[in-house]
Amino acid sequence: MTRETPLTVAVIGAGIVGLCAALEIQRAGHRVVIIEPDEPGGRQAASYGNGAWLSPAAIMPISVPGLWRKIPRFLLDPTGPFTIAWRDLPHLACWLTRFILAGRSWRRIETCVAARYPLCKGTVTDHAALADEAGVPQLITREGLIFVYRDRAEFLAEAREWRMRAALGVRFSEIAEADLRRLLPQLGPAYRFGARLDDGGQVADPGAYCRALAELAFKRGAMRVAAGATGFTIAGGRLSAVETEGGPVACDRAVIAAGIGSRALAVQAGDAVPLISERGYHVVIPDPGIALAAGLMPSDGKMAVVSTPQGLRVAGQVELAAVSTPPDWRRADILLGFARTMFPALAETFDSATIDRWMGHRPSTPDGLPCIGAASACPDLFHAFGHAHTGLIQAPATARLVAALIDGRKPPFDPSPYCARRFGG
Ligand SMILES: Cc1cc2nc3c(=O)[nH]c(=O)nc-3n(C[C@H](O)[C@H](O)[C@H](O)COP(=O)(O)OP(=O)(O)OC[C@H]3O[C@@H](n4cnc5c(N)ncnc54)[C@H](O)[C@@H]3O)c2cc1C
Repeated sequence: MTRETPLTVAVIGAGIVGLCAALEIQRAGHRVVIIEPDEPGGRQAASYGNGAWLSPAAIMPISVPGLWRKIPRFLLDPTGPFTIAWRDLPHLACWLTRFILAGRSWRRIETCVAARYPLCKGTVTDHAALADEAGVPQLITREGLIFVYRDRAEFLAEAREWRMRAALGVRFSEIAEADLRRLLPQLGPAYRFGARLDDGGQVADPGAYCRALAELAFKRGAMRVAAGATGFTIAGGRLSAVETEGGPVACDRAVIAAGIGSRALAVQAGDAVPLISERGYHVVIPDPGIALAAGLMPSDGKMAVVSTPQGLRVAGQVELAAVSTPPDWRRADILLGFARTMFPALAETFDSATIDRWMGHRPSTPDGLPCIGAASACPDLFHAFGHAHTGLIQAPATARLVAALIDGRKPPFDPSPYCARRFGG
């Protein structure tokens, strides 16, 4: 449904969340101005370098009961999936405490899961429809996703999570060792069991996909302001402009979708959200000698392993560190080490000189939920950030919710769990 008088809506940030929001807001009949200092979906964006997984089953928050007991082990393991930059600890301690407390009971997890599911469930269909519209249907594949385990006991250790997924209707099938070997002949002997998410999919090339969505938005009339947003002009409680490094951009509404850059803007919008970067890394191995139909995730490395046009992408690691701390490329090399364990016969050909290494910022709140909805300081400002590990998955549903809220339409699902005021900031 479109309203009679179109609004001018500024979308701040052209990562996957901002781009999906821009397209959905255009669909509702409004004019869009995209404010982004860099290339849409360029290397600065988490949306460029992520694991490309589209999983309707991404319902679990990272902080779950018992995690705090595992953290010391993770921290002592130099090749583990989780690390903290100790010099940044004072800055991170408060977030970390809230993060652990958020996962302190299964009752809390069930509430979180119920709030995450509407954001995840339609992801593959939604992205496939967007890719069709953008003329790049080949960029969304629907071959499922496979978790690989050392044995079935490891899988059963996560039985509770899998039961929660099944209860929501997520379909998966177990893969016994012989079938796993047939499916993935190059997979190393360390992995002897699999679980396949039948309805999972992948973005073949996340950067190219973002570029295609941006082109579609521009073709449909979106304006581009190539500058960073710095604040807002609010008079009489109503928004009149987004302030940028290049001057004010007049608008009726604005959406804060600037990934990790959203924190400072949210403060100006009246919401001091505890948003930090869970930094992640990827390596892309060109000419790896293997083409995966379905994305993989090994239980030990907790990383996404996907084929992309540039090569085999291995994306993962959680490094809690300040945004400005230089990348620690040893984290990328850990990913490469896992890739060698996964595919031992190919390990020799994984030439580290030709490998592309990347680091990006997952914009993360402590409770596993993004911030979506009107800001406290002004009803014309809307949050759409904080999607942490699953922003690619959750972007289309976030966009639909934001577009409905901007128009005052009935939201497609309950927005209250994502309210920024839940942090009491
Ligand atoms: C290693 C890794 C693996 C991941 N794997 C997956 C996965 O498999 N599936 C999944 O769903 N998610 C995954 N994620 C998470 C996902 O990438 C993010 O949640 C998502 O990309 C966030 O999108 P975004 O648009 O909010 O932010 P971004 O993609 O970071 O985009 C934000 C944009 O805002 C711009 N910006 C910043 N400040 C300003 C400002 N002041 N004014 C204007 N513009 C500004 C930036 O330049 C940037 O272009 C992964 C992340 C990492 C790091």
